[in-house]
Amino acid sequence: MTRIDLHCHSTASDGTLTPSELVRAGAAAGLDVMAITDHDTTGGWEDAAAARPAGLTLVRGAELSCRWHGAEPAISLHLLAYLFDPAEPRLAADMARLRDDREHRAERIVELLRADGVDISWPEVRDYAAGGSVGRPHIAQALIRAGLARTTSEAFASRWLGARYYVPKSDLDVFEAVQAVTAAGGVSVFAHPNATVRGRVVPDRLLVELAEAGLFGLEADHEDHSPEQRAHVRTLAEGLGLIVTGSSDFHGTHKSVQLGAFTTDFAAYAKIAAAATGVPVLG
Ligand code: AMP
Ligand code: FE
Ligand code: FE
Ligand code: ZN
Repeated sequence: MTRIDLHCHSTASDGTLTPSELVRAGAAAGLDVMAITDHDTTGGWEDAAAARPAGLTLVRGAELSCRWHGAEPAISLHLLAYLFDPAEPRLAADMARLRDDREHRAERIVELLRADGVDISWPEVRDYAAGGSVGRPHIAQALIRAGLARTTSEAFASRWLGARYYVPKSDLDVFEAVQAVTAAGGVSVFAHPNATVRGRVVPDRLLVELAEAGLFGLEADHEDHSPEQRAHVRTLAEGLGLIVTGSSDFHGTHKSVQLGAFTTDFAAYAKIAAAATGVPVLG
């Protein structure tokens, strides 16, 4: 059996393993295929490719921060993009803009916390991100260091990053993002589309519209989906002619989920690999 995990984060965003450590950990966990999908960046691709152990196939990707403007207020969501050309100007510029905004937004969150007497600083948070895409887990790390939270999850409670000190980030319009990924030769998969534990989710009709706009698949098997939500997403995908994926969404020690906790069927992976024209799978 081929073990395929198509959603993993490294220190290029908010994971805790470097890209090199990530691919080695993937092989050690018995994966045959793994994707590196950092938030809004391809910054980990080169190191992951260079460190790829023999026998592990690497799918290069990213997880794009998106928003659907069909609800009020707009609903934020994540789009997994695979095997796109990282030099394609539009998508590269979109991701650069998102990363830049992540920094400003994190600085604002730190300012709000400091204004309430919390002893953390932007340079500290920036150091935790270490040149990668800055995310709230890096601020969580500072809150843990300051003794105000014990775990990342605790730092995401409503009294901290979840609500009281929540600042939205600028995201890509989801239809424009699907188009940009397609134009860069990649394929897009909607990440954890029914994860109500993360907040409001989009209605099924958006998935119908996105399928018409070129969306390739839906991530059904994910720790943030209940068994009923997994079944629902699977049924939707079948009706829309979309592929179904399952993935760990591994973040190292920022989350408890392990590599390979959820996996993707070989047939779905093969369709992604065959459809994309941006960069090849490595393996
Ligand atoms: P950001 O992209 O900066 O808005 O931060 C969102 C990221 O924080 C997600 O990609 C997850 O990695 C992480 N995250 C969100 N909620 C939680 C939580 N309750 N516990 C731990 N990590 C979380
Ligand atoms: Fe994350
Ligand atoms: Fe996500
Ligand atoms: Zn993710």
